[in-house]
Amino acid sequence: MSRPLRARIDLAALRHNLGVVRAHAPNSRVMAVIKANGYGHGVLRVASALETCEGFALLELNDAVRLREAGFTQRIVLLEGFFRPEELPVFAEYRLSPVIHSREQVLMLASTWLPSKLDVLLKLNTGMNRLGIAPAGFEKALEFLVNSPAVGQVTLMTHFACADEPEGVEEQFTLFRQVADGTGLPCCMANSAAILRHPETHADWVRPGIMLYGSSPFAGESAASLGLRPVMTLAGEIIGVQRLQAGERVGYGGDFEAEGPVRVATVACGYADGYPRHAPTGTPVLVGGREARLVGRVSMDMLAVDITDIPEASVGSPVVLWGEGLPVDEVARRAGTIGYELLCALAPRVPQVEVGREGLPAAP
Ligand SMILES: *Cc1c(COP(=O)(O)O)cnc(C)c1O
Repeated sequence: MSRPLRARIDLAALRHNLGVVRAHAPNSRVMAVIKANGYGHGVLRVASALETCEGFALLELNDAVRLREAGFTQRIVLLEGFFRPEELPVFAEYRLSPVIHSREQVLMLASTWLPSKLDVLLKLNTGMNRLGIAPAGFEKALEFLVNSPAVGQVTLMTHFACADEPEGVEEQFTLFRQVADGTGLPCCMANSAAILRHPETHADWVRPGIMLYGSSPFAGESAASLGLRPVMTLAGEIIGVQRLQAGERVGYGGDFEAEGPVRVATVACGYADGYPRHAPTGTPVLVGGREARLVGRVSMDMLAVDITDIPEASVGSPVVLWGEGLPVDEVARRAGTIGYELLCALAPRVPQVEVGREGLPAAP
């Protein structure tokens, strides 16, 4: 038995969360966003649990190829498209759909012969100002793609900067509609926040990411209140217990000092596992299902928890760092970040264990 730290990945919860997407956007096809190794959950595992989705979106070409080789037949979209013309034959061979977001990509497509047509997504920059063709150049790019022998179906897309904030999507949405209306082409706009809050953006395709994994896209709204279930539970064990007297300190720098007698548990999980080093004293941790608090500095391989009020806790007691019973969003908030970052920063050294595969096809 190796070091007692595991990420349990609950595939039934993943399917449940897809059901929440479908309930909000019943008339849209779903392009599940599985970039960054499925937000840290394992890209092939996630895709197999979400095999009823009509498409997948990611930006790692090698993972896209692995999906095809594993037998997935859905549309596979590369959100940053291609970077060099040499990649285009791979897109053709594996029937991958690039997002075309720059003039340079349009030119690369123009000057490359391909054995088969690519379905593409043409991205309009409506104000995020990250990727996308400016509205002024959109018509020309679209005309070019529609007439290109290398291009099959064109879908129009954009990405919202503030779908999760009070500002909302109105300005970007209006601009997108102005350009897209009249083209008659399928459209794809909504991320999780827009799926949940801005139904007018659902259109032909939606692009949920974070909500599939059971984390909330909104700062002030819990995943549970949105009907979402956590998919990843990072679970460890107590591997040591110390008894401290007033004035004694814990960990590097001695940041935490006991004010009276305390029992402190050492848990086999640190920042090299993906636990945030910035989580301060007071960050919640579950020990044997009861809430306790992190104390002192998180180190590379271990962290400390005050178990004074949990007398039954001892070496071997189960610990949950986030997941079932302790929302990742709460831990992230304490550490000054968001659930997205903690999920996709789960370290490769943490073994992943699947649960809830009943009724699913065998893993690819
Ligand atoms: C990551 C990403 C998404 C998914 O966003 P969530 O907030 O995780 O739902 C959708 N579209 C694009 C272009 C993305 O990069």
